[in-house]
This record gives sequence, C-alpha cells and structure tokens, in this order.
Amino acid sequence: MVISVRPMQLVEAREPALMQVPFYRPEIDEASIEEVVNVLRGGWLTSGPRVKQFEADFAQCVGAKHAIAVNSCTAALHLAVEALGLAAGEAVLVPAHTFAATAEIVRYMGAIPILVDSDPVTLHIDLDDVDAKVEALRAGSLTARIPKDVRIVGMIPVHLGGVMMDMDAVHATAKKHDLWIVEDAAHSFPAAWRKDASKPFVRCGEDTSSVTCFSFYANKTITTGEGGMAVTADPKIAERMRLMCLHGLSRDAWDRFSGGRVWDYRIVAPGFKYNMTDVAAATGIHQLRAAQRMRKERESIALSYNERLASITQLELPHTDSDRQHAWHLYPVRLRTEQLRIDRNQFIELLKDAGVGCSVHYRPLHLHDYYIDTYGWLPEHCPVSTREWQRLISIPIFSGMKSKELDHVVSTLASICATHAR
Ligand SMILES: *Cc1c(COP(=O)(O)O)cnc(C)c1O
Repeated sequence: MVISVRPMQLVEAREPALMQVPFYRPEIDEASIEEVVNVLRGGWLTSGPRVKQFEADFAQCVGAKHAIAVNSCTAALHLAVEALGLAAGEAVLVPAHTFAATAEIVRYMGAIPILVDSDPVTLHIDLDDVDAKVEALRAGSLTARIPKDVRIVGMIPVHLGGVMMDMDAVHATAKKHDLWIVEDAAHSFPAAWRKDASKPFVRCGEDTSSVTCFSFYANKTITTGEGGMAVTADPKIAERMRLMCLHGLSRDAWDRFSGGRVWDYRIVAPGFKYNMTDVAAATGIHQLRAAQRMRKERESIALSYNERLASITQLELPHTDSDRQHAWHLYPVRLRTEQLRIDRNQFIELLKDAGVGCSVHYRPLHLHDYYIDTYGWLPEHCPVSTREWQRLISIPIFSGMKSKELDHVVSTLASICATHAR
C-alpha cells in the first residue's frame, strides 16, 4: 500500500520541467515535406529538374549570373579555388577566425593558407593585418613557417555571423595585392551591404567577387540538410565548377544525367563528386521562398536581445550597422570577463545547466593543432582573435523561436551575470 503511494508523492513534489531552448531548430514547412515526398515517389533522386530550378531561383534571388548547386559549402569553396587555378605551393589569405572549411580547401589544392587576424569590432578578416602579414612575410619577420617568396594569389573573406564586410574595402585590398576573392558566405544568406546611406544595397552574391559560396547545412539560415551553392558572374569559372562537380565529365555527360540522351561520356578532368540531389533541392526551393521571412524573424529576435540585454554590463552585444542587411545567422555575445568571477567555459556550463543551448564561433584556426604543427602559428600571430574568442558565446537565434524561449534565454543570462558579477 505504502509503495503505491510514494510515486504519487514524488510526482507532486517534482518541480516544473526545466525549459529547454535549443541552440538552433530548423524550420521545414509542410510544402517542402510534400515536395520531398513527391521527389521520392517520382523516381529521379539525384541531380535533375529540382536542382536546375533551385539554381535558377537562387541565382535570381541574389542577383547572380550563374549558380551551381553542390552538396556542401565546403565543396563550393573547393570548386571555386580549383576553377581559379590555385596551384600547389601558392598561398591564400584566410581569416584565422573562421570554420575549418575556409582553410582546409586551400590545403586540398596543396596550397598554403596564410592566417590573418580579426577586426576587433566585427571579427571579420582585418584588412590592415592582410597588409601587415604580407609585409612581414616578405621581410622575413613572420615567424610562421611559410616560404618568404611564396606567391599569394587570393583571399577568402568570411561574412562572419551573417554581417557582410565592406566590399569596397575588400576589393581595394585585393587589387593592391593582385588577388582574386572567393567569399565564404556560409552565414550570409540573405544579406546585403552598402557603402553608406547614399548608395543602394548590394546583395551578397551579386557582387563582383570571383565566386561567392553559400551553405545549406542543417543549422544555417536556409537548409537542405547538407548542401551549398557557388555563384559567379564569370561564365568560364561557372563552366569549370560545373564540370568538376561531377567527375569532370563533359557537358554531354551532364545531359546523360539530366535528360538521358547519351550513354557515352568523356572524362576531361579528374573531377569530384559534389552534385546536389533533387531530394535536397526540393527542400531548398521552399526554404528559399521563406528566406526573407525567416531573416526578419531572426532580426526581430536580435533586436529584442539588443534591447533586453543592453543593461547587463557583463555582456558586450554584437555590433550592428544600418548599412548592412544582416542575415543574423549568429548572435554572438562577448563576456566582459573582468566584470565576472567565472570564465567563458564556466559560463557555458551554467547556460547548459539552465537548458539554454549555445555554441562558440570559433576557436580560431591558428590555435588548432594542425595549423600549429604544420606552419608554427602562435597565439601572438593573431592577437585579437586569440583574445576575443575566449570571451565569445553564440546564443540561440532561429526563426520559429517562441517568446517564452527568448524570455528564458534573457532571464538566464541576467541571472548568471547577477550571481557571478565581480
Ligand atoms: C558551415 C560553414 C562552412 C561549410 O559549410 P558546409 O555546407 O557545412 O560545407 C564554411 N564556412 C563557414 C564559415 C561555415 O560556418
């Protein structure tokens, strides 16, 4: 008898379930689920009509001439540098403060990524440090193990978090050093920039950079599960990327996949297997239609955070700029650690304990074993990035986030800061 009563008491005594806010929750509407099911039933699963449509829709959406759908942004970046003729032993300027992909694709080509420090406000690649790194390399004063006379051919800026760089400044730096530009736009769809209020907005992707690469990974601003897109205005580069994304088979061979005309094909280069499937593209087509609405939702979450977190002095909020249409892929806060008795890692543990998902974007590349071991990068080579990453935390921001979820994030941050204030 007693035994049957005890569980009841336990249930009554239990506290209300802890609210859990995920770091990210993708939003897939019913229309895309239906479209995916139709593709599965239709019998054409790999690259076909859905991919063609997704490419055309995406190109129109960003104002690009050519769009090549692939199975990841990493693939898009790799195809881009291959099409630009990046050769083994050459070098490319890459921000230290980025994801693995931005630099690894340079290594795929046997080329050398030169890691550049961050702007302290935006954490974008610091264009002054581009000049400084090139100069130090030539003068022989850069202590990383990179050949002094290496040919530096390109630069891969990253629009970190979804806020675009000043592209005039990027292009000026590229011109000065005679570099091509591949934009890592994994975070920045849809986004736009203008020089100032007197100029019109330019969309990310419609610019004059050699290639711009987008990601549709599961937690990016639009998703196809895995996927990416390379856009360019240059027909030759587009043609090369299209060729290399499917085994280096000639154009006729592509027709074999998309129309079934010929059984014969010609291998004209040792290509890769990077094509997108129609299953993924079916999702992408619908995500694209929702992209601006979802961006606006993220923007309104960001504006709420800006307002409601402003009075917490232990937090430094992300920089905003009226000359940017921010994709708001990330909302990174920086801890004013001198005002706290706990460090960033302890702060993250407390967020987790309170059911708030978070992440860090990023441990910079010059602090990773591979880049240390291979090139001898040191923390002091990129001092801003070394310092800033230790106080970074990205908090939840995604369309479909509920107001009580937002309340929970805000109140958790406030309470952790109040409890552990110095
Ligand atoms: C996600 C990401 C990539 C790679 O995207 P995938 O589609 O996962 O290959 C590249 N660069 C940055 C900055 C990213 O965040």
